[in-house]
Amino acid sequence: MGKKVLIVGGVAGGASAAARLRRLDEEMEIIIFERGEHISYANCGLPYYVSGVIAERDALLVQTPEGMRDRFKIDVRIHSEVTRVLPEEKVIEVQEANGKVYRESYDHLILSPGAAPLRPPIPGIDDIEALIVRNVLDIDRIKQIVDEQKPQTAAVVGGGFIGLEMAENLQARGVNTTIIEMSNQVMAPLDFEMAAILHEHIFNKGINLVLEDGVKSFAKKENTTIITLQSGEEIEADLTIMAIGVKPEIKLAKEAGLAIGDLGGIKVNERLQTSDPNIYAVGDAIEVKNLITGQASLIPLAGPANKQGRIVADIIAGRNSQYKGTQGTAIAKVFDLAAASTGINEKMLSKLEIPYEVSFTHSNSHASYYPGSTRVSVKLIFGKSDGRVLGAQIVGSQGVDKRIDDIAGVIRRQGTIYDLQELELAYAPPFSSAKDPVNMAGYVAENIINGDVRIIHWQELRKLKANDIFIIDVRTEEERKGKFIPGSVHIPIDNLRDRLSELPKDKDIVVYCEIGLRGYLAYRILTQHGFTRVKNLNGGWVTYYPAVFG
Ligand SMILES: Cc1cc2nc3c(=O)[nH]c(=O)nc-3n(C[C@H](O)[C@H](O)[C@H](O)COP(=O)(O)OP(=O)(O)OC[C@H]3O[C@@H](n4cnc5c(N)ncnc54)[C@H](O)[C@@H]3O)c2cc1C
Repeated sequence: MGKKVLIVGGVAGGASAAARLRRLDEEMEIIIFERGEHISYANCGLPYYVSGVIAERDALLVQTPEGMRDRFKIDVRIHSEVTRVLPEEKVIEVQEANGKVYRESYDHLILSPGAAPLRPPIPGIDDIEALIVRNVLDIDRIKQIVDEQKPQTAAVVGGGFIGLEMAENLQARGVNTTIIEMSNQVMAPLDFEMAAILHEHIFNKGINLVLEDGVKSFAKKENTTIITLQSGEEIEADLTIMAIGVKPEIKLAKEAGLAIGDLGGIKVNERLQTSDPNIYAVGDAIEVKNLITGQASLIPLAGPANKQGRIVADIIAGRNSQYKGTQGTAIAKVFDLAAASTGINEKMLSKLEIPYEVSFTHSNSHASYYPGSTRVSVKLIFGKSDGRVLGAQIVGSQGVDKRIDDIAGVIRRQGTIYDLQELELAYAPPFSSAKDPVNMAGYVAENIINGDVRIIHWQELRKLKANDIFIIDVRTEEERKGKFIPGSVHIPIDNLRDRLSELPKDKDIVVYCEIGLRGYLAYRILTQHGFTRVKNLNGGWVTYYPAVFG
């Protein structure tokens, strides 16, 4: 008989570990305990079942207990909650749905209990049905309400990716949806100006997006809920979903005396061992090392959970493996847009006081002369002196996924903006440009680092008084119509050389165009004609407008 491995939680991390263990060792005794009804279900697909984009419920069930038994010879016990871990005895206590309690011993224990949706004690929350989205039964309930009760209105509390996905799928069913978000932006991994692109889009899709306002109380009124916000505004909703984030499930680990980190996740080392060497932990429940900062972080994503499950299996099977860290590469569909991020964002860098620089590029998803290209907005964050890529955020409707993955690969290898320039990427007009948006981001970043262009950020420009600076809009008449920075003077780029005499030499000059490219040309012209106090607006009007006026 081989080793005996028990696994708590049968979804992303747990099921991955189990399957890999079996592939490596035919003799091992492997038991998965899952307190719910399903294992290995598609958490990430749940919102799309409500709209019918994922039409078949069975499609959400990636693997079944029977399938795991037949294919992997794994003993899967559903409706079985692990209620205690006794590390000294190397034993767990299991409670079945029928109340029966029994013990099981182990050589190795893997904890993959995930993270639970937050449910703050907001007044009235227990009087209403505050729905959550974590598992198949949760989504069954939401779908049942939408199918049978035909709600007219819904409120989604929380503007993270789960909240946004739910809003989109409810709206697709004809339910008028409000998103209530306490901070000033949706999608926290993005910085404000990138989220601002989404705000406009979400609004245009008919969602009532409420920002900078939290829920003060819930009250039941017949079949609806009255949601009173901190501002005093009241929102009436037939359906209320709480999606304000998750917190690691650590009850078992804590009661077993395992070390818990400052952020509230289970502490593990690079071998994913907890403070007890026979107990491993993976997935949303653990604190991981942030690949960029080296600090402990909570990054609840499916990719890391699956990878950690595999690594733990390797380690238990005697292989040399380790988990190096998480960089938080993520993407979400937000109606017709995709929003993606990897690495660290500007908010976090300024909090940690790590020096950085930022470039914005707004490229075409593929060659502009080939029909159908759309804008890909890239925010690249990099080290000021060494050009090391620290993070990226991309919003657009096409080709966002491949660009974020290119940059994620470079970040994983601790690469620089020069590596982004060098990437040789697949090109034909229907797919990309000879200089891919990722290459472009690298070039623009180098221009900034080299001092070929001095930039001003939208936050800085917004704070300046119109009298203190001379702002030149170098776009065309058509582009400027009704949409320009107040106080700016219009000098199209092609006329700039002829109108140099109109420009002050004793004032700071800011040039801007639509996306930053003609602004850069204007900068080069002006600085070579003796103007020394010139800056180009980083990302141009396309970055400035949603961030300042959106
Ligand atoms: C709606 C939704 C959409 C998502 N979309 C994405 C996405 O697009 N991309 C992405 O990267 N991530 C996404 N995620 C996050 C992703 O699903 C998680 O990061 C991943 O599933 C974490 O894996 P895990 O094994 O740690 O936990 P889980 O997959 O949550 O599994 C934990 C399991 O453990 C069980 N359990 C807990 N305690 C016990 C116990 N004591 N005894 C027995 N069983 C127990 C739970 O019932 C649960 O089934 C999404 C999550 C949700 C909810």
